[in-house]
Amino acid sequence: MSRFLHSRYQNMEPYTPGEQPQERKYIKLNTNESPYAPSPRVLEAINRTEAEQLRLYSDPEARALVNAIAHRYGVDRSQVMVGNGSDEILAFCYMAFGERGFRYPQISYGFYPVFAETFGVDGQAVALKEDFTIDIDDYKNAGRTVLIANPNAPTGICLSRSQVEEIVASNPDDVVIVDEAYVDFGGESSVGLLSKYDNLVVVQTFSKSRNLAGARLGFALTSPELAEDLNKMKFSFNPYNVNRLSIVAGAAAMEDEAYFQECTGRIRKTREKTAQFLSDLGFTVLPSSANFLFVKPGTMGGTEYFTRLREEGILVRHWSDPRIVDFVRVTIGSEEEMERFCMVTKILVEG
Ligand SMILES: *Cc1c(COP(=O)(O)O)cnc(C)c1O
Repeated sequence: MSRFLHSRYQNMEPYTPGEQPQERKYIKLNTNESPYAPSPRVLEAINRTEAEQLRLYSDPEARALVNAIAHRYGVDRSQVMVGNGSDEILAFCYMAFGERGFRYPQISYGFYPVFAETFGVDGQAVALKEDFTIDIDDYKNAGRTVLIANPNAPTGICLSRSQVEEIVASNPDDVVIVDEAYVDFGGESSVGLLSKYDNLVVVQTFSKSRNLAGARLGFALTSPELAEDLNKMKFSFNPYNVNRLSIVAGAAAMEDEAYFQECTGRIRKTREKTAQFLSDLGFTVLPSSANFLFVKPGTMGGTEYFTRLREEGILVRHWSDPRIVDFVRVTIGSEEEMERFCMVTKILVEG
């Protein structure tokens, strides 16, 4: 640390992304990326003509992308806001709606408390229940902005739309943000509630279910008024936040519904097969509606399992937080990758 850093950031703990090793070829099941390539339509869209246009700034309103999203979700364009990853959308939410503080689950996306630090927002982390589910009563009449990942990460457990609605309805004077990064793998989306509530922000991403983590694309679906607030943040920070190639790539991906259904369907099928295999081996497997499984081996600790998988060339995610230290989070990879993962796991468990 230099002597120049703002005193406010001297004790800040930044977010630790899952590793992206360059030195050896791993089976990468640690950052919830898609094992499948982007839609073929994306490859057509990012062509030479588009690359030549890179000398020009991107459309600050990203209209091509906003239109494709609005069309897909049946909302007005004024209800859509796009960002450089959904992380950026969440950052704008903290900037815009952080005055009275945020409340979020204690075991959830690791970025939530980091953003609180970054933006000087009071972040209140509420414990999950013993079975790792969210107690919706903890989020009613919160008196502050509510932020919930649904399905939650790293547990994979989801709330129903009517449970989310209870939270939204009980907080009419506060914003409720539902982070639906994993909703396309089996959760129930809250987008349908937008016509009824003006305090709801639904955040989604192209990183997981649309196979475009590297394009850095996220979006919010919300009321026109809240979208205007978020855009105010964007235009006070980085008006060209989504680059030209990502705008065309995102629009093409959003328009290829068949490919999206195929990829998410395959991942769900592989997830169920893997979950069954692990339970048969004596693992605790939380019920997942996401593209990962949160699992606890019956015969060894989480640290040991993580380390031994790594030695075998398989990367998963592990946290040292004592409440989840015996679990690892396994991203659902391709059919072949998961066969290899299951085979290695069986050998590790049976010795
Ligand atoms: C992956 C993830 C994000 C961030 O996604 P990007 O769009 O890649 O920034 C947000 N929230 C949750 C819960 C995630 O798991």
